[in-house]
Formats: sequence, C-alpha cells, structure tokens
Amino acid sequence: MAGVIRRLDETVVNRIAAGEVIQRPANAVKEMIENCLDAKSTNIQVTVKDGGLKLLQIQDNGTGIRREDMEIVCERFTTSKLQTFEDLSAIATYGFRGEALASVSHVAHVTITTKTADAKCAYRASYSDGKLKGPPKPCAGNQGTQILVEDLFYNVSTRRKALKSPADEYSRIVEVVSRYAIHNSGKGFSVKKQGETVADVRTLPNASVVDNIRGVFGNAVSRELIEVGCEDPKLAYKMKGYISNANYSVKKCILVLFINHRLVESSALKKAIETVYAAYLPKNTHPFLYLSLEIAPQNVDVNVHPTKHEVHFLHEDSVVESIQKHVESRLLGSNSSRTYFTQTLLPGLSVSGGSDVKSSSAAAEPSERIYAHQMVRTDCRAQKLDAFLQPREKPPPDPEPAGPGSRAAATATAQPGSAEMEETDDADMMEALAEQEAEVPKGDEDDNSVQRKRPRKEQQQGEEDEDLTAAATPKRRVVKLTSIKELRAEITENTHKGLQEMLQDHSFVGCVNPQWTLVQHHTKLYLLNTTKLSQELFYQILIYDFGNFGVLRLSTPAPLYDLAMLALDSEESGWTEEDGPKDGLAQYIVDFLKNKTEMLGDYFSLEIDQEGNLTGLPLLLDKYTPVMEGLPMFILRLATEVNWDNEKECFRDFSKECSMFYSIRKRYILEPEAGEEQDAEVNSWRWKVEHVIFKALRTLFSPPKSFSEDGAVLQIANLPDLYKVFERC
Ligand code: ADP
Ligand code: MG
Repeated sequence: MAGVIRRLDETVVNRIAAGEVIQRPANAVKEMIENCLDAKSTNIQVTVKDGGLKLLQIQDNGTGIRREDMEIVCERFTTSKLQTFEDLSAIATYGFRGEALASVSHVAHVTITTKTADAKCAYRASYSDGKLKGPPKPCAGNQGTQILVEDLFYNVSTRRKALKSPADEYSRIVEVVSRYAIHNSGKGFSVKKQGETVADVRTLPNASVVDNIRGVFGNAVSRELIEVGCEDPKLAYKMKGYISNANYSVKKCILVLFINHRLVESSALKKAIETVYAAYLPKNTHPFLYLSLEIAPQNVDVNVHPTKHEVHFLHEDSVVESIQKHVESRLLGSNSSRTYFTQTLLPGLSVSGGSDVKSSSAAAEPSERIYAHQMVRTDCRAQKLDAFLQPREKPPPDPEPAGPGSRAAATATAQPGSAEMEETDDADMMEALAEQEAEVPKGDEDDNSVQRKRPRKEQQQGEEDEDLTAAATPKRRVVKLTSIKELRAEITENTHKGLQEMLQDHSFVGCVNPQWTLVQHHTKLYLLNTTKLSQELFYQILIYDFGNFGVLRLSTPAPLYDLAMLALDSEESGWTEEDGPKDGLAQYIVDFLKNKTEMLGDYFSLEIDQEGNLTGLPLLLDKYTPVMEGLPMFILRLATEVNWDNEKECFRDFSKECSMFYSIRKRYILEPEAGEEQDAEVNSWRWKVEHVIFKALRTLFSPPKSFSEDGAVLQIANLPDLYKVFERC
C-alpha cells in the first residue's frame, strides 16, 4: 500500500530546517557572535546555563536593531545584509541568509532587547516559531543588542536527549567564543556560566593576538609562537597567524582556522601542515596553529553547509601547498636564529620548581630505553670545547693573580670578633655558609665532586667529605643582625629550583668569551651569562659569609685618593664641572670611607689604614681575585651608590657594588694580540670561570627566579630537536 503524500505543516518544515542550522548550543552561539560582529560590536559577553540548553545570553554593544525591524527579524530569510543573489559573491558580512535567528526561535524561546543609537529607549520583544509574540515593549537599555535564548530544543525531544552532557556543550561554547576572541583581537569577549562572577575566558580590547592566545591556550604555547604571514596574488589569497615552534607539542593538533573571518575546519589544510611538523615534533605529538586566511570572496563558496562550518574555495590544493611551504620555511628558520636572540624563557625549567625538569628529561626515567639522541655526557671532564681549540688542555695556572694593575696577594686571615657577633663552634646556623677556608688545604686538586656545605639536605646527613670537617674551619662568628638574616631569607625565597638543579648537575662545555659560557644539562645546551651569574654569586657569598671573610692583602697599599681620582677621570664616572673640582671630591671620598673603616673591616674585610690606603679586600672565593681595573669605580661607587643610613640597605648596596667589582666582566679582560702566545692572563680568566666560578655555582648558589626571564640563562638547543634537524640532511 502506497503511503499518502501530504504537505508538511509549515512549523514542522521550519523546525526541521532549524535543526540543520542549529545542531547544538555552540552553533547558536557562533551564529549570534557573528551577528554581533556584523553589527560592529566591540564588546561581546556570553552567559550560559546548563551548557546553553537552559539559557544562552549574548550581549553586545553594536548598532542595535531598529524598532520597525523587530517584527520580522526572527522570520526565515529576513536579513539586512543581502539583497540580490549576486551580492553573495562579494559578501563581507558573516550572515546573509537571515536564517539564524529564525532557526533559533523555532527551537527555543527567544527574547531580544535592543537599542539603536538614535532610538530614545530600548525595546524588548519575545518570539516563538519565528513570530513576534506581542508588540515590542519600550524599556531601559544601552545601545546594542541582547539576545536571550531559553530552553533550547524544548520542542525537539530527540535532539535534546542526544545532548546529554551540559559540561561538554559548555566547553564547546567556550571553544567557539575563545577562538573568535583570538581572531577578533582588539575587541573584548567574555564567556561565563550564569551566576558565576569570574569569566572562563575573557579578552580585553587592548590585548594582542598573542596575549589572547596566552589567555586561552596558556603560557606554554604562547611563548613558543612564530609569527607567519604570506600571500600569493595569483592564487588570490593572503594568510597570517601564529604557529608553535619545534619546542612545543600537544597530544592533539590545534588548528584555529579562519577563512574570510569565519571559523571553519579544513581537513586538507590540517593534514598538509601536520606532515610538515611530523619531521620536527616527537612522535604522536602535534602543533598549535592559528591561521587566518583571506581568499577573494568570488573564489569561496561559503554556502556548502547550513552551519557554514566548511567552505570550499578555488585552487584549494595549490593554496594548501603554498601555505604548507611557508610554514615549513618559518619552522626551519626558527631553529637557529629565533631561539638564540628572542627566547629568553626557559622552556624546560618552570619557575615553580624543579619537578618539570625531572619529568621532561630523559635521564629521569632510567627504566625507559635511552635512544642515541637522548644520551648525555655525565662526566664533565670527558670532552670540553677547549679540546677543539687547544692542542691539549694546560694544567691550571698558578692562582697568583697576573693581570696588569693587579697587586693583590691572597692571604687568608681569620677575623676578630665584634659586639654583634659571638664566636661559636656551633655550625648549625651557618649551615648555609660557604666554607671557603676549608678548601684551602686541598691545594690545586680539581674535583667537582667535592661539595661544600650549602644548602642541599643530603650533605647535612653525615656523608660530608671528611676533609672538610677535619680541616678545622676557623671558628665562625654567628651573625645575629636581623638585616642580614632578612637578606639571606630573600635569597632563599627567591630561588629558582629548576635552575638550581640544572646548575648543580651541569656539565661544563666551554667559555664563549668572558661574558658567555656554555653548559650542558641532560639533553639541553645552555648559554649562561657569566657576568650576571658571577655577580649574583658574589653577592650571595657577601651576604652569607658576612663577617667571616678572609682577607686578600694588597702587596702595595693603594691610596684611596688616587683610586678616586682615577675613577673621576674615567668617562664611566659621568663627572662634569658642575660636580665641583675632582680633587675636592676625591678627598671627600677618602674622608668618608675612612670614617667607615672599622665597620668595613669588621664586616667585609675591606681594610683601610690610617693614611687612607686600601690594604685589604674580602676573600670571597678561594683562588679568586677580582680584576683590579674595576677597583677605582668600586671605590667611587661606594661613596655615591650606597645608602649608608639604613643598615639593611647599606649591607645590600655594599654587597651589590662589591659583587659587581668581583664579577667576571668583559671589559676588564683583554684578549691577547694576534700572534702573541696565549698567555697566562687569558688562561687565567678561562680557568677561573671554569674551576672557580662554575664550581661555586654548583654548590654555593641559589639562582634567582629572574634568571629564567632576563637572559641570564638561555636554552639554545635540545638534543632531540637537533637530531630531528640533522636526520633530515
Ligand atoms: P543574517 O545574519 O544571515 O542576516 P540572522 O538571522 O542571523 O540572519 O539575523 C537576522 C537579522 O537580524 C540580521 O540581518 C540583522 O539585521 C539582525 N541582527 C541579528 N542579530 C543582531 C545584533 N546582535 N545586532 C544587530 N542586528 C542584529
Ligand atoms: Mg546571522
């Protein structure tokens, strides 16, 4: 029996059509956001209840809807954006079919509140099945439109049942809003659950694309982005965006793709780009990409599907290939130059602690098979950069300083006690102190395994090197000054644990120059700013060893007056006539410092005699003397840069100045003339960096958190990444 053919009831037709356009709450949100953008809104706020099934509210500050249009706005095929079919080929707005609002109103209760610029008040109207339920009512409201969608699919029970998880629907909504937010940087977006005060995604009108990617996808990806951009007039397309570099990968590919400002999917493009990344990323991991494609509107067919989710365009294969090539070239380029100069953050080391380092490093999982490209040098003496530069590594030179102008001779002497300090055998409080004197008897022996008494717990549990304790450390004075305790606490609290671990276990690779040193840690190669690190190291020694320094006796006392004059003569002092005659200033500095003699000697082993000569400097690290070219400026700055009126400030400032003087600085170290034999001077700084500074950095140092961001530590290569590059050759 043939069935009877009947004409479908109009509401049924509309409901079926609506189901095609609006498949789930996120589709409705997308349509309505596009309407807001078409209406030139700069602020769009989305509020959601029960994954959008109970309530969806989209508030904008756009042009609004005219009172007289409110009647038909929810009917099918009513639009203010398209008039003739030909217009479709040059469509510049998101909407053109006038179907979205109509569709929503067929499957939900819709209420629109809207106000245009020239209307005296706002109007509110409710809709059902595309029809106005009653005349629009005047009400209060700002310019813009608020669309309220309630009880979505209340009349389509099958659809309603299919959407089981409000949480899932909500996350799809958040995804749509946040992607539009990224693409429309310069406009403010927010999405939140009803009743919550804090938005789940919020972007600000003044934020950049990268800011918004950071806000949505997090810091880990935002700091590993490469900007991309290309165009091809022949293929009539333009592309710009941001893609993750080879340092970053995720389990699932994230492609945020906009074609002519519409959020769309393109499996062809995704596939093409994934093949590029496959050569750079670890197996089964994927990149992040945000791409905005603009294609001549006449080449694009947006009308493939009612949800406008997919688009077709002319020369699709060629465009995809052209984009693929560009992405590849940017990725390759980023491997050498970018990491060097702009990446000041440490991908492997998080500020919060060392745990990430462990989990990401190959060595942390010994049970796993270690591949060739994950193998690391564990013995730092195995092979260093020097081996390639010099025929054979020379034995360390005599620690006696040999630099021009260097008149210091190292003589360690014990310190007298003072009122604020008391002598004690109890080393407990000084656990964190550097025991430099204890190392003196060990002679020239270079053994990186000798750990000093700082601050690792394991060492405190009796496994300490016997030599250390047996060497009868001179009695230490316990410092009871609150100021010093506070300064010490500041150092400890500000420690970057991951960096500390890296420095403790690093393998020394070589000195690039006085300012830069290469070290290896697990599979990573780091470039360290020796100046910054050594300066901070000496600062910490000054604070921790406060009141307990040995003395570096100058073989010839240096008149403070001459030092001050030398400094004032130098350009660096910035002296001008207005400052008054130099000799007067120099004399003032001498008198000023002479006044502080007792305190400077007692606390810092900076010794000044009756005649105003400098006779001793603090011995901060065994076998290390500062380069004396820095001495005049140090003396001058003691008089000008230190706040002597406040105890804590004074100790901090003094230690900062002193550590600057002691740090390894490029300008003090003269490279040998060409042809000249590599003399002791050059060897001497290289030797000091490796055997004194970096040895101390292993054990005596609490790297501050700022080092991970200010360029003091740069990760320049990761072995697995290098293998990926070289395997391709
Ligand atoms: P389309 O966007 O395809 O034109 P819609 O059903 O999405 O169709 O919207 C119908 C009409 O309603 C739009 O053409 C526009 O004039 C008006 N409209 C919808 N949303 C807004 C809004 N947020 N601000 C101003 N006008 C709007
Ligand atoms: Mg629309």
